[in-house]
Amino acid sequence: MDGPSGTGKSTVSRRFARAGGAAYLDTGAMYRAVTLAVLRAGLDASAPEHEVVAVARSARLRSGTDPDAPCIELDGADVEAEIRGGPVTQLVSAVSAHPAVRDLLVERQRELVAEALSGTGGAVVEGRDIGSVVLPDASLKVYLTAPAEVRAARRAAQDRKAGRVADLDAVLADVRRRDDLDSTRATSPLHAAPDAVVLDTDGLSVDAVLARLKELAHERGLLT
Ligand code: C5P
Repeated sequence: MDGPSGTGKSTVSRRFARAGGAAYLDTGAMYRAVTLAVLRAGLDASAPEHEVVAVARSARLRSGTDPDAPCIELDGADVEAEIRGGPVTQLVSAVSAHPAVRDLLVERQRELVAEALSGTGGAVVEGRDIGSVVLPDASLKVYLTAPAEVRAARRAAQDRKAGRVADLDAVLADVRRRDDLDSTRATSPLHAAPDAVVLDTDGLSVDAVLARLKELAHERGLLT
């Protein structure tokens, strides 16, 4: 499941995984956790790649793959709430644009998926480059999209629900800034894989998106 921020990826991916008895991996949370480690090391967007990569290498990440209890730990502590805050959101696209950071995390993501597949027999993985780079042989690739204004409104509502301050104009500016950085970076830019099903979620409820995903999975013999 790929696509930009605010398309409903996380919500539908988790529910889709649950419906199929599959594991769930949020790769954005991994980039966010590394970004938190970078911030804690006192680095910013201007830090040289080798310093960022050194932090990424020494960060101890643990990503849970249970769709009922997604969790991300950095150096032994749960950082789920902290990685969703402003400072990490501001820096994450710059950190994730470093090719060496991507190499490190893509390798880890493939290992986690291999582990999950040996256990549950299925995995729903969400991110920006899953169909194009991380798992090019995935049986079903879906690229979720929606207009930036719609995505920003969803993001702002999510932020408010989680108790974070959310000004719609600021959220829209951030969504556009990340879209731009994520889709223009040299390594693994955000784009739909040629064989991905593109699904515009504007005006669709989560249930409707989920119903379409189940249909696609059935067509491919992934759900019985
Ligand atoms: O999905 P989420 O919004 O949490 O992702 C945060 C950021 O992590 C994205 O804006 C992008 O810069 C980066 N990311 C990425 N590749 C992925 C997942 C996320 O570059 N597979």
